[in-house]
Amino acid sequence: MSETIFSKIINREIPADIIYEDDLALAFKDINPHAPVHILVIPKKPITKLETAESEDQNLMGHLLLTAKRVAQQINLTKGYRIVINNGSDGGQTVNHLHLHILGGRQMKWPPG
Ligand code: 5GP
Repeated sequence: MSETIFSKIINREIPADIIYEDDLALAFKDINPHAPVHILVIPKKPITKLETAESEDQNLMGHLLLTAKRVAQQINLTKGYRIVINNGSDGGQTVNHLHLHILGGRQMKWPPG
């Protein structure tokens, strides 16, 4: 996998507003927020997209979901939030490093566009 902007954020080569980090994951504010709260949770392992995650990534995938939950609790999204994973071009994915969007701070609509 070629280096993406998110690898550069992990390696501190470019700045980001990081709000959580552990050995496996990083969470930081989206540069172009689509809600009052818009945070990205990424694995440090450079998985291109959900589609390319392997069975060996099962624990990591669970960790990412629980990390999103913990971050949402940490920033007091008590009324709820939405978790989104865009996969591939039809899914609207623009950065080829797996990421979970945490969107909150307003009423979400359904269905998404
Ligand atoms: P995708 O469309 O791939 O699901 O989401 C990629 C997200 O990454 C977008 O919401 C976009 O605003 C965000 N993003 C792209 N480049 C940067 C960056 O350099 N810094 C941060 N913090 N977010 C970025």
